[in-house]
Amino acid sequence: MLILGLESSCDETAAAIVTGDRRVLAHALAGQEEAHRPYGGVVPEIAARAHVEVIGPLVERALREADVRLSDIDAVAATAGPGLIGGVMVGLVTGKALAHAAGKPLVAVNHLEGHALSPRLADPSLELPYLLLLVSGGHCQLLLVEGVGAYRRLATTIDDAAGEAFDKTAKLLGLGFPGGPAVERVAKDGDPKAVPLPRPLTGTKEPHFSFAGLKAAVARAVGTASAADLAASFQQAVVDCLVDRTKRAIGRATGATALVVAGGVAANGAVRAALEQLAHAHDLRFVAPPLWLCTDNAAMIAWAGAERFAAGLTDPLDTLARPRWPLDPSAEAVRGAGV
Ligand code: ATP
Ligand code: MG
Ligand code: FE
Repeated sequence: MLILGLESSCDETAAAIVTGDRRVLAHALAGQEEAHRPYGGVVPEIAARAHVEVIGPLVERALREADVRLSDIDAVAATAGPGLIGGVMVGLVTGKALAHAAGKPLVAVNHLEGHALSPRLADPSLELPYLLLLVSGGHCQLLLVEGVGAYRRLATTIDDAAGEAFDKTAKLLGLGFPGGPAVERVAKDGDPKAVPLPRPLTGTKEPHFSFAGLKAAVARAVGTASAADLAASFQQAVVDCLVDRTKRAIGRATGATALVVAGGVAANGAVRAALEQLAHAHDLRFVAPPLWLCTDNAAMIAWAGAERFAAGLTDPLDTLARPRWPLDPSAEAVRGAGV
């Protein structure tokens, strides 16, 4: 089985080809950091235009790299949401056009399902169900992954996502954009105990997250310590929050044999190390995808497409792009935005 995957929900345009037996034959990716850097964050209109310019050539590159023709592809998987609507539409419309031209089915993939299933692409021995900490630029959730399309949300953030907190902290510290990798780099030379910062919601019964207060505390502390000490203290606070909340969720993750972390913040070394320790303390396997598969890419979309296609799940060509699209539609809204 050969699946072509497309991703364009934020500021990465990507095309990839994966096989049903987990081989990544090609993954082509174009970031837009330079275009957004002057603004210190992703500008939706600029992002959409940039996706239009590069998505065609990226598909051609992926087909060339994989040494296959469009007619060899069994299905086209494209991110259909959630994300910046202009960008999502570019990838989804491209996917529809390619599927139509090739006479092959379309699989409309939830970007979060791409992140959620990416560990299964990386590790064939990972068994269901597993407890997933999904930490990215727009989301911070704990999910019990029971199967393809079967996700039970145990917790979410009541305000900001963890990646958002990294990006805002980077901005406050003058480290530029994108923020996560910059904060991690600078934190290596700092003392994580140097600046006292809050750990919002830790110790509370429900395993929800909150990062708005932490970000505000960093803003107040700017100028009182070096950027390295502030970055290290901030990163430690995030790690402590993630560990405390995940520990709480482990007790509710019935049947899970593994703790899995995915999404852009899963690329952070301190986050990975702390979660690995937590998993082992609870006799759980720890699985984290390789770094390139943590941040946005099309291989995870192609893989989610492969899993859905194998389960007989395809979508009509009039499928709409969705700016919001929860993985667990039955989960109740929690106070605050973005949940
Ligand atoms: P979502 O997946 O929620 O729609 P997104 O696609 O923008 O959002 P990802 O690409 O999955 O998010 O992740 C990007 C986020 O990950 C950014 O907030 C970025 O700062 C953060 N990030 C990336 N690398 C690191 C790192 N090494 N340490 C901490 N954060 C990181
Ligand atoms: Mg990005
Ligand atoms: Fe993402």
